[in-house]
Amino acid sequence: MNQESEVSVSKSLNIEENDTIFHKILRKQIPSTSVYEDHKVYAFKDINPQAPVHIIIIPKEMQGLNMLSNANESNVEILGYLLYSASLIAKQLNLGNGYRIVINNGKEGCQSVNYIHIHLLGGAQFGWPPGTNF
Ligand code: AMP
Repeated sequence: MNQESEVSVSKSLNIEENDTIFHKILRKQIPSTSVYEDHKVYAFKDINPQAPVHIIIIPKEMQGLNMLSNANESNVEILGYLLYSASLIAKQLNLGNGYRIVINNGKEGCQSVNYIHIHLLGGAQFGWPPGTNF
């Protein structure tokens, strides 16, 4: 999917949806390529990778947290754990030279799946700043 299509998918983000593709992946109704799993998170390869390594990390219990902007204090622990697990996965995938964590939030943030998730991207030299193509 090219950048334009990614943007158009995110414009159709349905914030009412409570059975997303990530719920289905967790229930194994949709296949995914797992790279890490523990009692709190599940991580799998992005189907449309934007870097040589592109992993999606999701909490197993969504806790009603569809997007970062809806976080409340009860979500602090899982938000921290998502980042911590990203550091474990980055080590496991030998991303010792660096990597990037991304959270897309809402339509203008280009979020397309209504389930909190973080992107772990690596395996290439990235530029900065990101997100200036508007
Ligand atoms: P976002 O745009 O931040 O909501 O990210 C959603 C990500 O999920 C995108 O990078 C998609 O490529 C990815 N994605 C969508 N469906 C699947 C799937 N079935 N398996 C793996 N990744 C997926």
